[in-house]
Amino acid sequence: MRCIHRFFLFVICFATTLPLAAQEISMQSSSSAHSETTAAILQPGWMKDTAAKLQRELVVKYGDQQRMRAERGLRQVAEFWRAEDGDAAAFEAFVAANFAGDQATLDTMFDRFQRLLEQIDGHMHEISREFNQQSDLDLGPVLPFDELFAGYDPSAHVIDDFFQNKLAFTVLLNFPLATLDECLKDGGAWSRRQWAEVRLAQRFGKRIPSNVNLAIAQAGAEAAQYVSEYNIWMYHLLDPQGQRLFPPKMRLLSHWNLRDEIKANYADTENGRAKQRMIQQVMDRIVTQTIPEIVVNNPGVDWNPYTNEVKAASEKDIDGPAKENSAGTTITNTREPDTRYAVLLKDFNVSRRVDAYSPTAPTLIDRRFNEDREIPEVRLKAMLEQILTSPLVPQTAKLIESRLGRPLEPFDVWYNGFRPGSQYTEAKLDEMVAKKYPTAEAYQKDIPNLLMKLGFSPERARYVANNIIVDPARGSGHAMGSQMRAEKAHLRTRVEKTGMNYKGYNIAVHEMGHNVEQTFSLNDVDYTLLQGVPNTAFTEALAFVFQGHDLELLGLPAPDAKSEAEKTLNDFWGTYEIAGVALVDTAVWHWMYDHPQATPRQLNEATVQISKDIWNRYYAPVFHKNDVVLLGIYSHMIDAFLYLPDYPIGHMIAFQIEEQMKKTGAIGPEFERMARMGRVTPDRWMEHATGRPVGPEALLEATQRALAAAGVR
Ligand SMILES: [Zn+2]
Repeated sequence: MRCIHRFFLFVICFATTLPLAAQEISMQSSSSAHSETTAAILQPGWMKDTAAKLQRELVVKYGDQQRMRAERGLRQVAEFWRAEDGDAAAFEAFVAANFAGDQATLDTMFDRFQRLLEQIDGHMHEISREFNQQSDLDLGPVLPFDELFAGYDPSAHVIDDFFQNKLAFTVLLNFPLATLDECLKDGGAWSRRQWAEVRLAQRFGKRIPSNVNLAIAQAGAEAAQYVSEYNIWMYHLLDPQGQRLFPPKMRLLSHWNLRDEIKANYADTENGRAKQRMIQQVMDRIVTQTIPEIVVNNPGVDWNPYTNEVKAASEKDIDGPAKENSAGTTITNTREPDTRYAVLLKDFNVSRRVDAYSPTAPTLIDRRFNEDREIPEVRLKAMLEQILTSPLVPQTAKLIESRLGRPLEPFDVWYNGFRPGSQYTEAKLDEMVAKKYPTAEAYQKDIPNLLMKLGFSPERARYVANNIIVDPARGSGHAMGSQMRAEKAHLRTRVEKTGMNYKGYNIAVHEMGHNVEQTFSLNDVDYTLLQGVPNTAFTEALAFVFQGHDLELLGLPAPDAKSEAEKTLNDFWGTYEIAGVALVDTAVWHWMYDHPQATPRQLNEATVQISKDIWNRYYAPVFHKNDVVLLGIYSHMIDAFLYLPDYPIGHMIAFQIEEQMKKTGAIGPEFERMARMGRVTPDRWMEHATGRPVGPEALLEATQRALAAAGVR
């Protein structure tokens, strides 16, 4: 489901001092790639002497107790000050006027920035929500200009403006830019105000020129376009006997639809396995780029993915002209010319342009792990390895083999046979939901009730419900929180003419979980500078808690122990699969930083090798087959700039939160207690929520219990 967290500002911990192990990795991998670019930013020549003189003057004026603050503030301002911001005299005048040398002035400054930044965030978000209304909501046709409104980002230049008018420098002069290391090491002893000050400063911890940001947006859009048009026309796949295994008109988008078709075919006892093997072969050809260019998104040719033979389609399954052969008329099986990797290299090259403006996190890898996730790469890697090498993996594999009645094949990384049983058919559930919620208003009216069933007191349930507005969604549904307390959260849900169906209801309950989190973490957090959660995995986990109780909210029995166990095993197997994918994604980015001059062909070869290596290490032992490249198939690897590690983290976090909810029983108060923590580091948040930092233990423990319940030891 689509969950919108627009304006989720990347306000994050920086990493001037990475933990030692991470430092080694980052130095070894990226020194060659960006050493010359970092030097490209020149501080004005007078800066060093002027800053030293100003520091002495500030100490004389405000006393020795301000020495540390003055030193830090001047260093932070100097880091971002450019010649166009003014000469030495302008710098001196700025510092003299804006250094808050006593606590009362500092408090006033902190309060005022907090209040006014909430205003600008909130109103920008409000404009953006209004501009997107026509495309987001079920309000009739979207005209071309509506799309222009929706694509406009009113906040795009705020950071630039704040550097230009020097409000950003005022913050940098007075509040600390903490490193991730400091957040992790010292954060436990910080007061809430100190955390809020750190988050305030981090908003201005980067000054990326707008042309660089624009280039990133363009590369991202191009990559998304490449991915979104990468369809395989399944009716035109021929098996070695020349048979068509798939139905006419079936068009599958790589990799999501291809993967889901593998999952769906477990139910086909006749041809399922042949189809799954064929999809695996197609995926192999995409990753290695031995796929004939002409078969991509083209129902006009038939293709045998085993022999790689291509010919004009002997049967037509769609109306309208087929895609022209780019060469004109001849049909050949000339391979796709490494376009997949050319697109990825473009992502890399444009990301490198930020490196020079990001001295504390000088590679995209650093920015993703140390800033966006705030979990050091070495730690995440250790967590993933804990899952990948767990003895529970071969045990689960054995259980899958016994259910399938055969040894595992590589495509079984997407095995989907762990299923919670349901005593109700979807049609029956549709009927119940439509009766209960004929309109969006009916759902809106029921929210206080639903929240009370989840253990919220009547008073808290009413309070939260009053902060949620239900809108009819154009698509499947999403949650849109607000960014200021004067605004409400929006729950967008799909309601058919015949009333809400079960799928829509299930999504609405999920989105309601987001809205409740958004309400507590904005309206009830002590500092609005700390509003939100550490990253999207946390709000997703909280939303899943709600979603997991959707049947009870309908007045039906909760899932039984067997269903719970199946769900756990499904999550565990999915985490095992995506953990390897995350390692491939990360290793490929390291390889690019190590080989900044690589050609698409070389990146192709490297990605294939990395995929095989990780497979051979963590998967071959249970799949008994070497050199499989399937871990390299994810499309997000091509268009999402090292996003894939978020998935396994999400699974681990969800389990930790779920286990904690089970322990305490009442969801409501526990949910509120967790959500009010706001946006501190993931570990800090999780320790507050569950007593333990982020980690795979909860998932592994639950899996162990589930395997025992399934009779595996
Ligand atoms: Zn969600």
